[in-house]
Amino acid sequence: MSHLVNTALTTPGSVVVVGSINVDQLIRVQRHPKPGETLIGTSMEFLPGGKGANQAVAAAQLGASVRLVGAVGRDSQATVASAILTSAGVDQSAVRTVDEPTGLALVSVDDHGENTIVVIPGANALMGAEAVQASAGIIAAAAVVVLQGEIPADGIAEAARRATGRVVLNLAPVIELDADTIRRADPLVVNEHEAALVLAQLAPHRGVPTEDAELVSRLLEVGVASVVLTLGAKGAICADREGTNAVASPTVVAVDSAGAGDAFVGALSAQLAAGVSLLQAVRLAVRVGAFAVQSRGTQTSYPTVANVLPTVN
Ligand code: ADP
Repeated sequence: MSHLVNTALTTPGSVVVVGSINVDQLIRVQRHPKPGETLIGTSMEFLPGGKGANQAVAAAQLGASVRLVGAVGRDSQATVASAILTSAGVDQSAVRTVDEPTGLALVSVDDHGENTIVVIPGANALMGAEAVQASAGIIAAAAVVVLQGEIPADGIAEAARRATGRVVLNLAPVIELDADTIRRADPLVVNEHEAALVLAQLAPHRGVPTEDAELVSRLLEVGVASVVLTLGAKGAICADREGTNAVASPTVVAVDSAGAGDAFVGALSAQLAAGVSLLQAVRLAVRVGAFAVQSRGTQTSYPTVANVLPTVN
């Protein structure tokens, strides 16, 4: 563990996240309305979100030097979206201001913790190949390029093509991407549901396995260089040509799992940029994911180095 601590702290590598920036409008209701029904809710908050921004915050709070490539609107929501990015020290000079509104996720949570989410991509929808190309130099210079499924497919493909460092592809949500782009992932980070959808895209003629180990080995078989399968409270499986390892997550009392996957991916990317092995990176990432589920919110629940590595000296 102390080796991990020192690596994370002393050699922060450069991480470039190319992805979405949103404001999460979180409303609480006793129960969800039926179609046509009006209900009075109990509270509302505007919180910074978007998978790209979340992952950038998680990586920066663990000591990585992080740049975010993305787009926001010419509106007051852009200030909300950037608040924690700014305090975490994420370089936002490659975040463009465009003539579409800042992306919005309308999240409604009922008294049982069940949620419904509607995402309006807004400015994120303009992050296609041409917009990404404008940041080609930044992307090519990164030790690790981090991508998710919340910007257009041609923007993701362009970023993967421009990368000369390692590509961490968190294909969430799963969107249709060409096989070449998916094969550039090292690792591809997906949960079980997403893994099945990716396999259905890459190898449609074969049935999709139900066993976790089988999902992972099948993804390697179809040409993905390495795979990290996240398993919620169970942790994660990580696999590359050298072998497959299950990494357990610490047992914690989960309060809100929203954004845990992004905390995991941000931590993983920060560690890979610092030069540790995939297995070592996953060992820290499961702890960061477990930390994030213990309090409400997404970015607000992410740890700093001191939170996850209390033995540091
Ligand atoms: P996603 O939200 O993308 O499906 P997961 O639910 O698999 O992602 O969560 C990502 C990581 O967060 C897991 O690998 C694990 O380390 C951590 N995690 C999630 N839920 C829990 C939990 N209930 N207890 C402990 N760790 C958790």
